[in-house]
Amino acid sequence: MITGHLGVAAAVRSRWPGLSVLWLVPVAVAPDILDFAYVALGICSPYGLYSHTVPAAALTGAVLGGIAFLVTGSRSAGLVTAGVVLAHLPLDLVTGHKIFWPGGPLLGFSLYRRPLLDFLIELPIALAGWWVLRRSGRGPSWATVGAAALALALAQATFDVLPQVKPSACRGIVQEVP
Ligand SMILES: [Zn+2]
Repeated sequence: MITGHLGVAAAVRSRWPGLSVLWLVPVAVAPDILDFAYVALGICSPYGLYSHTVPAAALTGAVLGGIAFLVTGSRSAGLVTAGVVLAHLPLDLVTGHKIFWPGGPLLGFSLYRRPLLDFLIELPIALAGWWVLRRSGRGPSWATVGAAALALALAQATFDVLPQVKPSACRGIVQEVP
């Protein structure tokens, strides 16, 4: 899942205006950012072992939530940040195919193999977040204008027509986009 995570970030921002969209967006896709970092460092993280399992996301959420708490002094900012990281996992279950705990089975509906279906499921999640933020009147204008919704649709369409494989530092393991 890609833009669906951005929808979560937008919806959360509409409730907690103290958290910047520019913070919530990378937090919402933090497990995916970790995956790309592992590839850059040449670390094999098969099927999201070090990024998308419950222990990995709990650790990521604790670190990012701790940073949010230290920077803002707000305990709820820290808890909400950690919650946004953890919300990544159930959403990925819809589109991906990965393990959720070390040694666990591969789970997920692998909707990336059905790009049109993925588009039809994921884009409404993204647009719902955009709409909630727009209606709240609490979002920055660049994120709530109509062009932002169009950009979400174009981004999702682009991801859905591109080959659904992302780089992996694991030899012989082909991983789907999370
Ligand atoms: Zn992911």
